[in-house]
Amino acid sequence: MSTDSTTVVLIIGGGLGGLALAQLLLQSSSSIKVLVFERDRDENSREQGYCIGLDSMGLNVLHKIRVLDNLLCDKSDAVYTLSYFRLVNKYLQKLIDFNAKDNKLVYREDLRRALLTNIDVQWNKRFISYKIFDDGIEAYFEDGTSTRGTILIGCDGAKSIVRAQLIPEFQRNDLHIINVGGTVEQNDNMKQIQQLTKQCLVRIFGTQGHSLLILPFRQSWIWALSWPEKENHEEINLTSIQLINKARQYFNNDEIVRLIELSSSSTNIGPYRLYSALCLKQNPFPNNSRVTLLGDAAHLMTTHAGKGANTTFADAFDLANLLLNPSSSTLSDYEQKMFKRGFSAVQMSLFSTKMIHLTGWRASLRNCIFSIICYTMLLINLVSIPFRWYKNKSD
Ligand SMILES: Cc1cc2nc3c(=O)[nH]c(=O)nc-3n(C[C@H](O)[C@H](O)[C@H](O)COP(=O)(O)OP(=O)(O)OC[C@H]3O[C@@H](n4cnc5c(N)ncnc54)[C@H](O)[C@@H]3O)c2cc1C
Repeated sequence: MSTDSTTVVLIIGGGLGGLALAQLLLQSSSSIKVLVFERDRDENSREQGYCIGLDSMGLNVLHKIRVLDNLLCDKSDAVYTLSYFRLVNKYLQKLIDFNAKDNKLVYREDLRRALLTNIDVQWNKRFISYKIFDDGIEAYFEDGTSTRGTILIGCDGAKSIVRAQLIPEFQRNDLHIINVGGTVEQNDNMKQIQQLTKQCLVRIFGTQGHSLLILPFRQSWIWALSWPEKENHEEINLTSIQLINKARQYFNNDEIVRLIELSSSSTNIGPYRLYSALCLKQNPFPNNSRVTLLGDAAHLMTTHAGKGANTTFADAFDLANLLLNPSSSTLSDYEQKMFKRGFSAVQMSLFSTKMIHLTGWRASLRNCIFSIICYTMLLINLVSIPFRWYKNKSD
């Protein structure tokens, strides 16, 4: 990689990762030229109607990006702090609460818009291939144009074209899980859901592997319903009526049926199939000095552990550090670190996806285990009250 004053970083993909990387580079160096290429026609050409859950890994990076100061500040109404992540059975009885106080929810659209601040994205530039030269790398686009740079970073997401050229043998795995999402205004007549989702992100386990996530955001509930495909390549384009029937059949709760019924079909995401990278044990990245990957392009994972964007931001931070201080580490150090972090998140996400969609006796066992953990924690808390009281008194 060139260490002179003319380093040109070609970023393919102006999604969350590409923009975070661009911001981190531009705010710290005037000698690096950053060019971002995005296939979308403009900033608003795609519906992004869902929230991203940010954990401490992602937040630590985002807090370093100056243009996000307003979005992430305590007074901001763009960010929502949760208290618990709650698991619930099909009767809407609580199985267990996990502390989520360090997590924040942000609307993806708001986050992307803020990340776009001051970045001169080249829209309508669909990348198709690259070619490496002795003194640089050239990116080619569908419109027949090309651009030369020092290094090219594939931030082009789940179906990355950069990855397809860099690691042709890399595979995406169809998990045979179907997912559909929507948004509905909060409604005082849905008391059970209102009660359950008060500052909580709630996952409801229905029957036959059906699972519904509901989270409160501003005045709305955002939901995602997912289920295992019955046979290979089941027809997934359900009508609204079919979706409502699904809710009736697998959750048997009037409020859940109403939640789906009231959701405007224009705000639905999907239905789409879930894909994941395979759980690789060995680093597949070829340590090419002119091209590397970050985020979903490198380690596509399911959304069920809430790690995709968070690991992407951690990648962007490590890669920006390397590009800003090329003598401090190498691209292969970055790829090794990114591999370990990314693929442990791939594994965690897959585990979570499988656990959420269990069927039959396995699903009953899962629910029992969560209940036992919940009651054991309660018991430990109760038993420890006198000890805590005594400790407080003697302090
Ligand atoms: C419904 C949903 C909920 C999620 N919730 C969470 C969550 O709670 N927490 C979490 O951590 N993660 C979550 N994720 C995952 C998270 O959104 C991704 O992991 C993250 O966006 C990855 O960032 P990225 O930059 O790698 O890819 P993206 O943000 O997908 O960006 C890729 C960009 O590349 C562009 N592109 C693609 N191909 C080309 C091309 N050939 N030429 C030019 N541009 C191209 C795309 O248009 C896109 O803008 C969720 C995802 C979904 C779908």
